[in-house]
Amino acid sequence: MKRMGITTTVPIEVLLAAGYQPIDLNNVLISDPDPGRLITIAERAGFPLNCCSWIKGIYGVCLDKGIEDVLCVTSGDCSNTIMLMETLKLKGLNAMPFAYPDRPDVHLILQAMEKLAAALGTTLKAAENVRKKLQPARDLALKLDELTWKNNRISGKENHLWLVSASDFNGDYRKYQQELQELLDTTIGRSPYPDNQTRLAYIGVPPVYAGELYSYIEKHGARVVFNEVQRQFAMPERGESLAEQYTNYTYPYSIHERLNDIKTEIQKRRIDGVIHYVQAFCHRGIGDIVFRSAIDLPLLTLEGNADFFLNNHVKTRIEAFLDMIQRKNVHKKVLSKNIK
Ligand code: SF4
Repeated sequence: MKRMGITTTVPIEVLLAAGYQPIDLNNVLISDPDPGRLITIAERAGFPLNCCSWIKGIYGVCLDKGIEDVLCVTSGDCSNTIMLMETLKLKGLNAMPFAYPDRPDVHLILQAMEKLAAALGTTLKAAENVRKKLQPARDLALKLDELTWKNNRISGKENHLWLVSASDFNGDYRKYQQELQELLDTTIGRSPYPDNQTRLAYIGVPPVYAGELYSYIEKHGARVVFNEVQRQFAMPERGESLAEQYTNYTYPYSIHERLNDIKTEIQKRRIDGVIHYVQAFCHRGIGDIVFRSAIDLPLLTLEGNADFFLNNHVKTRIEAFLDMIQRKNVHKKVLSKNIK
C-alpha cells in the first residue's frame, strides 16, 4: 500500500478504499525519539519561530520520512495548513487539500467526501465497505474509553494513546485491533484505580508533553478520565453512514458542537476539574474564553510549545490545581456530613 500522510483526522475510509495507507503525521512526530530535530528542519527551511510546533513538525516529518503524498486539511482544523501545503508542493510533494464543511451538515460532508473519493479514484460505496471493516477496531477503542471512566481500569495515558492513534490506527487497523484486544484482556486481572480519586477532563488538541503529563497527574492522586479530542478521533457517534459519522465528529466544526459533547461527558464521568491545553501560537487558544464561560468547574489552562517534557512551572501549576480541587472536595464532604 502506498503511504498517504494526513495532517489531522480525515475520512480514512476513503483513503483505504483507494488503496492508501493513512499515516497521521502528528503521531509520527510525537513518537519520534527526537521530535525537536524535525521541527528544526522546518525552521531551517524558513518557518517562523512563532509558528505552531505541530505544523513545523509535520513539515519536518514529510521531508525526513520521504512521504510523497499528503492530504492537508485546509478547513476544519488549521488555517496554517494552507501554507504548509504550499511549502510541501514547493518541495515536489503531492499535497492535496481536504476541506470539512463550515457546519455539521450531512449533505455538505457527503459532497466533500465524494470529491475526495473522485480525486483518489475510488467511490463512497467502497469507502462504506471499509467503514464496516474498521468497526471492530473503533468498538474496542470505545470499550477502552468506557473501562477508563466507568470501571477505572485504564490509565489516562493509555486512554490518550489508544484514542489518539485511532486517527490512522497506527497505519494498520488489524494490528491495532489485535493489540488493543490483548490489552483489554489483561485489564480483567487489574485492580481498579480508587473511585474517590480526583477525576479530570482533558480538552483541546493533544499535548506535546503527553509522555509525562498523564503520569504526573496520576502521581498526585488524580486521573484523566476524559480525553475530549482524542475520543472524537475514535468516532464515538458513528451514525448510519460515513456522512453521518463525519457530521457527528465534533472537532472540525464550531466550538459549540464540542461544548455539547464536553458538557455531556463531564456530567456522565463525574468530572471534578478540567485541563484545557492550548498550543502556543494556535488560534484555538482563544476558545479558552468560551470554555471558561461555559464550563462550571475549576479549569486550568496549560500551554505547550516545543517542550516535549513538563517543566517545573507547568508541574507547579498542576500541583496547585489538584490541591485546590482536593481541598474543595474534602470541604464539601465535611459540609454534607454536618448537614446530615
Ligand atoms: S495546534 Fe493549532 S495551530 Fe497547531 S496545527 Fe493544530 S490547529 Fe493548527
